[in-house]
Amino acid sequence: MARCNFCDASFEAGPGDLLLVCPYCGTAQTVDGVKFKDHYMIRCHFDQTESQRTLLDWLSKQLGVPEDLAAKARFVGYKQIWYPMWISRVDARSDYHGQGRDANFHGRWPQYPGAYKRYTYFWKPESGTFTRRHEIKIAAVAGIDEDVRDHPIPTRAKEFFSHSHAEEFDGEVLHSQITVEQAKEMAKKIAFDKQTALIMQEVDKIDSRTDNIDVGETYLVHVPVWELEFKYGNSRYLASVAASTGYVIESKYPRSLTFRAMGLGFGFIMLAVGGMMIAMADGFIPNILGLGLGLGNVTGGILAALGLVLLYKGASRKEAKEKI
Ligand SMILES: [Zn+2]
Repeated sequence: MARCNFCDASFEAGPGDLLLVCPYCGTAQTVDGVKFKDHYMIRCHFDQTESQRTLLDWLSKQLGVPEDLAAKARFVGYKQIWYPMWISRVDARSDYHGQGRDANFHGRWPQYPGAYKRYTYFWKPESGTFTRRHEIKIAAVAGIDEDVRDHPIPTRAKEFFSHSHAEEFDGEVLHSQITVEQAKEMAKKIAFDKQTALIMQEVDKIDSRTDNIDVGETYLVHVPVWELEFKYGNSRYLASVAASTGYVIESKYPRSLTFRAMGLGFGFIMLAVGGMMIAMADGFIPNILGLGLGLGNVTGGILAALGLVLLYKGASRKEAKEKI
């Protein structure tokens, strides 16, 4: 339990919660009761009914979904969760010196233009500078679903956190398990790694580098997500829809029987043909189909792999995400 330093109410907080949002007055505060001012939200533009409609509309466009899904799906659960995210603007400049691998070519083959008998590798010094502005996003709660964590957040549309707006939909506002100091430290490290990745595109090893990493504006933003549950037939399915954009973050859904049967059928045929081609190419069985032997192994392998994928897809219940 924690006590709000601003309205004196008691509320639930776990030992890992380090920046708390009072569920009664909405004030963000440290565990020592110091108010945290850089607290924003992305406004909710899709209420529960609209987000359900968006989800059904999206589901009806997915491959192999039963035609009567939209008509027969029954929503049995919904909850609005406000997920806390830390956003940092980081300006980074890295000057580096390193070595790139290069090669000398010796002994041209007369019969193959552009081909050589021997290569010798050598290191070549390279240097340069990368100046970048990064927007680093860090999920402020442990164990967050990775699709929820990675879904796009329209940070330009942020506004100051409004307790009454979060209450409008009976939303649950999660505490942050990261302090602002920790968030800045993490953002700095992530930006450094991003700079390293840029440098490693240019050189194979770094001899020396100078980094100037400046963590600027860092704020906490709460992002509303509808966690929905619907029933179709005897099964229940879970879905997450971004409440500010209507973006379907992820959803499980049923596949129609015909679609699954088709997937299984094609899967078996491709697996069989693929297997036969491999066998023929390897000479285990005679080449009865008159197929090119040289490619038999490769094509057979690809067909067999596709067959396995179709088998898997046909047999499994699909979980899908919107493409970013
Ligand atoms: Zn309070």
